[in-house]
Amino acid sequence: MKKITTLFLALGLTTLLSANEHGKHWGYMGEVDPSHWGELNKKFNMCSQGKHQSPINVVATKKGELKPLELNYKADAKSVINNGHTIQVNIKDGSVFKIDGKDYKLKQFHFHVPSENNINGDKFPLEAHFVHATDDGKLAVVAVMFNYGDKNPTLDKIWSQFPNLKVGEAKDITLSAKDIKALLPKDKKYYHFMGSLTTPPCSEGVKWFVLKSPLTVSKEQINSFFSQFSFPNNRPIQPTNGRDILE
Ligand SMILES: [Zn+2]
Repeated sequence: MKKITTLFLALGLTTLLSANEHGKHWGYMGEVDPSHWGELNKKFNMCSQGKHQSPINVVATKKGELKPLELNYKADAKSVINNGHTIQVNIKDGSVFKIDGKDYKLKQFHFHVPSENNINGDKFPLEAHFVHATDDGKLAVVAVMFNYGDKNPTLDKIWSQFPNLKVGEAKDITLSAKDIKALLPKDKKYYHFMGSLTTPPCSEGVKWFVLKSPLTVSKEQINSFFSQFSFPNNRPIQPTNGRDILE
């Protein structure tokens, strides 16, 4: 293991965590970039074979009777981590997204620069993913887009931890449920479709809810993100293959 670690350090790659978890490193650059994910590990098979992959260019195909999102965020943040692929904020128990009467618990949220999903062909400077899971492992992701504009105060609170973050090491963070809700737009109209995780193992069956109203992020905040990552961390757009995209 030490040898492998040294190798990764020597290559300047910062994804020790995934190297440990999956035996093989994946990333966004070079020989482990998204076009190779499916070959890196048998467990990543869906990354190349899946037919309902994410992200996608979101263009509504159907008018659905979409209900208001039942997002009930009450819990504070637990920790923040640079996991080598993104900045992730882990959440204490107690925040729930109810879908068809079933509780999906908010586990974490994290960021992609630039956005992974596009909306009607438009890419955004930043996309936040709120990841929810049922006790039996079903996943739902709420995605929020950010356009350039005023800085977002909650992002400032998270970004202020950057100097303390070492790759793979979680740090405590003070972030209230109110702060977290400030990362959601007031207008919660959304697109809904089925997709996958946008990182290996690219598992499918993920319920996606992409909010239509973007928030704002400052250019300085985007630049600051690149003090943590020297690469864009967005997977390229995947084919929709005739999926229903409801609005
Ligand atoms: Zn994500």
